[in-house]
Amino acid sequence: MGRDFVYVILGGGVAAGYAALEFAKKGVSHGELCIISDEPVAPYERPALSKGFLHPEAPARLPGFHTCVGANEERLTPTWYTKHGIELMLGTRVEFVDTRSKTLHTTTEFITYKFLIIATGARALKLEEMGINGSNAENVCYLRDLGDATKLVKMMRMCRGGNAIVLGGGYIGMECAASLVMNKINVTIVFPGSHCSKHF
Ligand SMILES: Cc1cc2nc3c(=O)[nH]c(=O)nc-3n(C[C@H](O)[C@H](O)[C@H](O)COP(=O)(O)OP(=O)(O)OC[C@H]3O[C@@H](n4cnc5c(N)ncnc54)[C@H](O)[C@@H]3O)c2cc1C
Repeated sequence: MGRDFVYVILGGGVAAGYAALEFAKKGVSHGELCIISDEPVAPYERPALSKGFLHPEAPARLPGFHTCVGANEERLTPTWYTKHGIELMLGTRVEFVDTRSKTLHTTTEFITYKFLIIATGARALKLEEMGINGSNAENVCYLRDLGDATKLVKMMRMCRGGNAIVLGGGYIGMECAASLVMNKINVTIVFPGSHCSKHF
């Protein structure tokens, strides 16, 4: 089965959310634009995941940090996309792009487009890519998406008073370490340089 769109945004992060907002402002017609994301929720502000989402008191939760129309204004919830006739294909991974026939192959169907916007962002480096096994262990957490942050919150609740190692001394590592301390967990940060955030 295949479907046809004028515009397809591949990826469901902030770039996709704000691009959709600009399309809506310019008056895209219903059914012209589709966002395909392998995440299960509409685009959200990823920075919340290493900050408010990890707080022990009054933590940030969706829909409170979906991408938004403007500061403190309407959030782009799934209802907003429906209202503007923008198709949200969530939990859908694009496996292959054929740019000659302008076709995307997803896990379940193929989609044709006139214009493709690639907004696939970045991902966390896995332990295995550093020559270490263990990514799937229950007590190993990454912090890139909502699923990762949800697992981390669960671990923090189970391990109050325990010890954690944060691998990475950049902004996200340091914010994560601060949140772990707020959750009463002792933290050791491991990083290769002489001090944290040496690139900044
Ligand atoms: C925990 C954390 C905290 C951060 N804090 C800050 C901050 O304080 N300030 C700041 O400026 N930046 C921060 N960042 C960085 C910021 O979030 C990124 O720059 C931003 O997310 C980039 O947005 P993006 O839409 O380009 O890509 P991404 O957010 O990476 O989104 C890419 C999307 O594409 C999807 N995707 C990828 N491949 C496929 C595929 N084949 N099929 C379907 N979908 C696919 C992904 O699942 C994802 O939804 C933080 C990042 C993280 C992880």
